[in-house]
Amino acid sequence: MATINRNYLKLPGSYLFSTIGRKVKEYGEQNPEADIIRLGIGDVTRPLAPSIIQALHSAVEEMSKEESFKGYAPDLGYEFLRDIIAKKDYQERGCQIQADEIFVSDGAKSDCGNIQEIFGVENKIAVCDPVYPVYVDSNVMAGRTGEYDVASQRFHGVIYMPCTEENGFMPELPKEVPDLIYLCFPNNPTGAVMKKADLQRWVDYAREHKAVILYDSAYEAYISEEDVPHSIYECEGARECAIEFRSFSKTAGFTGLRLGYTVVPKDLLVEGVALHSLWARRHGTKFNGAPYIVQKAGEAVYSLAGRKEVEEQIAYYMGNAKIILEGLQAAGFEASGGKNAPYIWLKTPNCMTSWEFFDMLLEKANVVGTPGSGFGPHGEHYFRLTAFGSRENTIRAMERFKSL
Ligand code: PLP
Repeated sequence: MATINRNYLKLPGSYLFSTIGRKVKEYGEQNPEADIIRLGIGDVTRPLAPSIIQALHSAVEEMSKEESFKGYAPDLGYEFLRDIIAKKDYQERGCQIQADEIFVSDGAKSDCGNIQEIFGVENKIAVCDPVYPVYVDSNVMAGRTGEYDVASQRFHGVIYMPCTEENGFMPELPKEVPDLIYLCFPNNPTGAVMKKADLQRWVDYAREHKAVILYDSAYEAYISEEDVPHSIYECEGARECAIEFRSFSKTAGFTGLRLGYTVVPKDLLVEGVALHSLWARRHGTKFNGAPYIVQKAGEAVYSLAGRKEVEEQIAYYMGNAKIILEGLQAAGFEASGGKNAPYIWLKTPNCMTSWEFFDMLLEKANVVGTPGSGFGPHGEHYFRLTAFGSRENTIRAMERFKSL
């Protein structure tokens, strides 16, 4: 008789974005004339840059000829891509990361969700609250947590690190020592960033306690300030305690193409075993490589023209972020983020719950955002807006906020 993985049953009801989708659909059906502006889900809207499109076309062309056709890609990624990533994203920033420490994948979500497989089920995880839900849910599915507690909206057996207004949305080093620490900076959903000296404290803490940091820097390309590290490997000793996830999704608009990578330094040992070899084994067994044409498109992101084009796109989104942040502040809202990240985190007015504010905003302004409580209990009374809309819609949304 087959049985199910009962850990899946611990996961509470509906996924945040499906609830938002349902509410917006219902509202749209009841109010067909409503001109709804979506600043909720974190998906990009600008088309792919010309250099990327060109690389895709020529890679497709190669696939059409016997002499240049490509079948299965190497499961850890093509060398041309791993080499350029190591050089441009790491070595030129002073980080000692080699091409064979980079594992190319179909995006950061799968890697962030799958990485837990190489750790023992008894490991205790620490996550920020609010948090990108994948870190917690993937560990729940693996049986690394207890049951969900409806009252506290938390899973037993997980160390939650509150990120609040009082601590500047920065997690504090946990008193109860975790084995695995998930950090994401620039942060989704708060848009907060960690300065280098602060991140160094986490690296030192992890090394002292033999913990591993799982560092998600999917939004690294949005950093504009000087003393904010782009990679955890800018910190001393991080090669011995940290894995880093990167994505081409928000950097270069690959949300639909799918490309990302994970860095596992060879110096990172747990119980004397190199995590590099475990992740290589896992990747080789369960993943058959990102498509050649997509990896060629990824390579184009690092060309002179490609780099310039994606920087222009990021500047466009960050222009939106500035409009949102300043627009909200002018309309009397408390808001943060939006300076080194495409997310703006605003406090709901008059102690409204995140969902009350969602409903009010949808009905009165026809603007869709994301309720902060969907990212964890400390997200309650907050709301996330994204800078990924069009400039025109962003400006219109802010005008509507002013007349709320
Ligand atoms: N990590 C964070 C923090 C994200 O916000 C996202 C996407 O929204 C991802 C990872 C997933 O990135 P990808 O599109 O590469 O799977």
